[in-house]
Amino acid sequence: MADDRCACGAAAGPLGLCADYYHAILAEEQSDPEMYSWHAPVVCAYLLQHPAEGHRRYLDFQFRLLQLYLDQGLDALHRVSAHQVARNNHRSRSSYDTRSFEGYAPLPQDGFPQGFRASFSGLPAVDSSFVFDGHPAYGRRIQTIAEATLEAWRTGQPR
Ligand SMILES: [Zn+2]
Repeated sequence: MADDRCACGAAAGPLGLCADYYHAILAEEQSDPEMYSWHAPVVCAYLLQHPAEGHRRYLDFQFRLLQLYLDQGLDALHRVSAHQVARNNHRSRSSYDTRSFEGYAPLPQDGFPQGFRASFSGLPAVDSSFVFDGHPAYGRRIQTIAEATLEAWRTGQPR
């Protein structure tokens, strides 16, 4: 049945499909600045697992952003994001963005991964919270999803 399985291949969890989890995370992180630290990896991983819900032209950037996060960590990701905002305000800094990302692989163009070993619908939530066991534990789960996302795009077969 279509309702049991997400477009990414994952089975539905207690809260529903990945989209239900994604929107619940976006809602919860609005009132939790520490949880919001993982906002960019959450958005990038979600859209790379569900490309139909995003914009194709941003996927390559999101794919590189996830690589930078796993390679250099959350602080580096925030620095780049801050510069990105600055870049939008001051056009003279327009070269920063290219320099940060040119070392990372572009998004493979041949097909979509068959599935991901970690999915949003597999995230545990207790009493409607994703950070029920602390932010570091939540961060590790987001990192696992990010790793699974890159791994599947790098090795996945077109379907
Ligand atoms: Zn999904």
